[in-house]
Order: sequence, then structure tokens, then C-alpha cells
Amino acid sequence: MDDDGKPGRLRTLEDVDFRGRRVLLRADLNVPLTADGAVADASRIDATLPTLRRLLDADCAVVLASHLGRPKGRVVPALSLAPVAQVLSQRLGRPVPLAPGVTGPEVAARVRALGPGEVLLLENLRFDPREEKDDPAFAAELAQGLDLLVDDAFGAVHRAHASVHALAGVLESVAGLLVAREVEMLSRLLGQVERPYAVVLGGAKVADKLGMVATLGERADRLIVGGGMANTFLLARGGRMGRSLVEPDRAADARALMERLGERLLLPVDLVVGSAPDDPEPRVVGADAVPDDAMALDIGPQTRGRFAAALAESRTVFWNGPMGVFERPAYRAGTQAVAAAVAAVPGLSVVGGGDSVAALHAAGVASRIGHVSTGGGASLEFLEGRDLPGLRVLGYRPPGAR
Ligand code: ADP
Ligand code: MG
Repeated sequence: MDDDGKPGRLRTLEDVDFRGRRVLLRADLNVPLTADGAVADASRIDATLPTLRRLLDADCAVVLASHLGRPKGRVVPALSLAPVAQVLSQRLGRPVPLAPGVTGPEVAARVRALGPGEVLLLENLRFDPREEKDDPAFAAELAQGLDLLVDDAFGAVHRAHASVHALAGVLESVAGLLVAREVEMLSRLLGQVERPYAVVLGGAKVADKLGMVATLGERADRLIVGGGMANTFLLARGGRMGRSLVEPDRAADARALMERLGERLLLPVDLVVGSAPDDPEPRVVGADAVPDDAMALDIGPQTRGRFAAALAESRTVFWNGPMGVFERPAYRAGTQAVAAAVAAVPGLSVVGGGDSVAALHAAGVASRIGHVSTGGGASLEFLEGRDLPGLRVLGYRPPGAR
């Protein structure tokens, strides 16, 4: 439809009469789990409740679907959506049944039996290998007995997977309230922003994210890099990183970026190290001097101060990726300091990423953030100005897309 290269408008619930329809609600219920399999942070579940309630109140029959983790096309009981069904039941104050699979005759019978105002949660979409292959036959199975796709899975819109892409070729499709709000808020960072604009990046997925660092860094006045992401930069500068998480393959990219960004790039000057994430006795070392038997697990106290000072001068901020292994109390201080400093930025603050958002909640500052994005990779790719497959099928094209 929108192949003329012009920015396209997102189709939303306001564009259709959804009363009484049979809906597949694709949500992002990919929540972090605790070691014993409980929901560690329910932010993503809560984020999808407004759309779910809106549909149920309008007498829709709602089949709710999501992926969870990376089961790689096999049934992995530890990645069942059962704990999510439990939390959903608590939130809605009524049972939310879990289907005995993703598709197939038994599931189809349950879908057929679903009445107006009722909800059924499908099992983890990625239990079926066809989900990640964007398989049209799988999409057709998912669509059986339904007539509208409401996509509220912002965290998955950067993937060409069946439930967010091929399925839109089978069912009429619109964005849910969450996807609509994500697109509205993140779009603000693609337009004119109040400056200085700071981008803070950390976390562990260095190879996934390094490409985006470049584009985001170009738009920002300050690019603040910590966490596992910083290690590759420190290595590229000739630092000794011991057993830290590093990506030597990306050192050349990191070096080129350091040259391009110069003073605008802020890296750690000191690090908190341990022999492993469960080492309860952290030590502080210079950012270029991680002992051979140790690994960088948090930014150091001096770095905390410098990052906080840079954020205190900023009017707009985007943050993705913790500054360290914040799951462990001994390596949490850097992430907490950054969370507090991001929350104190007077202008627009946007935070994305499952772990980053969990860290915000742990630090008790989530309510002071302008927009808490449910997307990690998705929000980063959106902010790169990329044309994302899951948004394209909902009519949206970014400004300047080819
Ligand atoms: P998000 O979910 O917010 O997008 P990521 O998934 O990229 O963030 O990164 C979060 C993970 O990165 C956390 O599990 C954290 O323990 C890990 N991490 C952060 N810093 C380091 C580090 N220096 N070494 C190893 N892991 C790290
Ligand atoms: Mg994560």
C-alpha cells in the first residue's frame, strides 16, 4: 500500500470497528523469569492490559499470543507461558486459560469455543519452528476462526516472524494501544529534540547493538557507554580486559566509532571487577587494567559520578542496557546511579529494554520516566530510523524510508 516512499501512518484500533470481533492479540509477554520459573518483572504484562481490557470490554473473543525466550522451535517446558497466565489471571481477576499448544486440532477447538468477552492464551509461539521462519501456512493456522489481528507486541516489530508479519497478510491488522503509544513517543526522538540529547547504552548484546551505536551516536550530543558494551571499546583502546565479556571481532568497528565521535563519547574510567558474577567481593580497578583472572561487572564509582554529571546537563535522554550485572547486589550500583540520573533529566526521558526496565523498577524510579518502552532491540532499531517489518504491515513507514 505505502510503497511510494512517503512516511506512512500506523493503522490503529481507532481505524476499525472492533466490537464483537474475533481477535488474535499478539502481545509481547516475553518477561524475565526467576531461576525457579516465576515472573521476575511483570512490566510487559501490565503494558498490554489496556489493549486486552479494551477488546474484552468491546465483547471481542480474544486469543492472546506471545513468544517467551528462545526455545528455538521446540517445546521447552521451562519456557511455557504458564507463569504468565497466572499473572494475567491475577491482574484481570478471573482465570486466563492456557491452550495446550500453539496450533493444532485441540487448540482450534478451544478457539472455536471462545465466546464474546472471553480470553485464551496460546502457548509460546516459538515452540513452533515456523514462527521464526515467517511461515504463511503457520500464519493461516493461527488465523483460523479469527478475523482481526491486533498487534501490541512492540518488542517484536523488528522481526519478520509469522505472528507479527505473515499473519498480517491473512487477517485485517491494526496496532494495539501500546504499539501506537510506542510509535508516538519514540517518534519524538526521531524529530527535533531538546538538547543536549544524551544516549546511554550498556548491556550484554554487543554484536547485536554495535551497529546501532553509530547511528544513535550521530544524533546525540553525548553517547554514554557502560556495561558489557563498553568492554569492547576499552579493549579496542588497548586496555587489558582480563576475562571480561568482549567482542574482539568488533574492536575495529569500536575504534572507528571512537575516532568519529571523539569527545562526545563517554566511556568508563574505572570498573568494578570480580572473578565471576557470583563473586561477593568486588574490587575497583582502572578501566584499562582488569586483572587476568577477573572480569568487569559494573562501572566504578568515579565513572558513576561522570555519567551522572553528563546526564545532569542533558534535556533529553534515551537509555538502553544496564551498566553491569545488576542482577547481583555487588554489581548493581552503577545501574542504579544511571537509573536515578536518567529519571532526574528534566526533559523527555525514554528507557527501553527488558533488563533496563527491570532495573528502573528495582531502583524505584520508573514513574519518573517520560516513556518506558517495552522494546529493547525494537526501540533501538526504530530509533535508527529503520523500516521495521512488523510496523510496515500496519501501514507505518519511517520518515525518509526507501
Ligand atoms: P536490555 O534487556 O535492557 O535490552 P541487555 O539484554 O542487552 O539489556 O543486557 C542486560 C544484561 O547485560 C544483564 O543480564 C546484565 O547482567 C548484563 N551485563 C551488563 N553488563 C555486563 C558486563 N559488564 N558483563 C557481563 N554482563 C553484563
Ligand atoms: Mg535483555
